[in-house]
Amino acid sequence: MIKFANNFDMNLRLAFGYTSLIGYYSGKVISYNTRSTRCSRCEHGHTKSDHDCRKNFDGSARAMEPDMSVDLVTNNKLLKEENVIISVLIGDDDSSAIAAVRQEASHEVEKWSDTNHAKKNLTSRLYKLSLSAKVVNYFGQLFVRVLNHHKGNVEDTAEALKNIVPHAYGTHDKCKEWLKCHEKDNNFIYKDLPKKTTFN
Ligand SMILES: [Zn+2]
Ligand SMILES: [Zn+2]
Ligand SMILES: [Zn+2]
Repeated sequence: MIKFANNFDMNLRLAFGYTSLIGYYSGKVISYNTRSTRCSRCEHGHTKSDHDCRKNFDGSARAMEPDMSVDLVTNNKLLKEENVIISVLIGDDDSSAIAAVRQEASHEVEKWSDTNHAKKNLTSRLYKLSLSAKVVNYFGQLFVRVLNHHKGNVEDTAEALKNIVPHAYGTHDKCKEWLKCHEKDNNFIYKDLPKKTTFN
C-alpha cells in the first residue's frame, strides 16, 4: 500500500509540480518526481545544453499530475528493478492520477481514500451547499469520529455514517454509546452546533 502525495504550484508564472510515493506502513518516501514547464536559465538566454536545465515538461499544468503519476507508479524503474507492483494507492479523491495509472497499468490498482482527503472532499461539498463554517465543521468532525470509532469494521462504519444525519436531526435510536446522546435523552446538547440544539 502506497500513499500518494501531490503538490502543485499552478501559478502561471511558475508551473511546477512534484509527486511522491510514501509507504503506508514505513512512512518512508519510496520515490518522487518533479515537472517544470519553465527554467530560469533558459529564460535568461542560456542554451539548453549549457546548464542543468529544469524544464522537463511541455504540456499544460493540468496534465502534469497524471503524467507524473504514471511515471511513478507504472513506469517506475526503481520498482521494476525490485519486482514490485503497486496495487493500492491512497490519496486524493478527485484526482485524474488514478485514472491515468489504471489505463497504463497491466494489473488492478485499488484506490483508497485517507481520512484527510475524504474529510476534505466531504466538507468542500458541504461548503458548496452554502452551509455555515460551523455546521460544515460539525459534520466534518463527526465524519472523522465515526471513521475512528469503527476502524476496521466496514459494516459498522457504513451504518454509523448513515446515522450522522438522523443523529444531527435528533433521532438517536441507532446511535452508539460513544456519541453520548442517550445519556441526556431528548435534551442532548449539540455543543458544536450554532444553536446548541438539533437542526429541527
Ligand atoms: Zn543567466
Ligand atoms: Zn533550461
Ligand atoms: Zn445520537
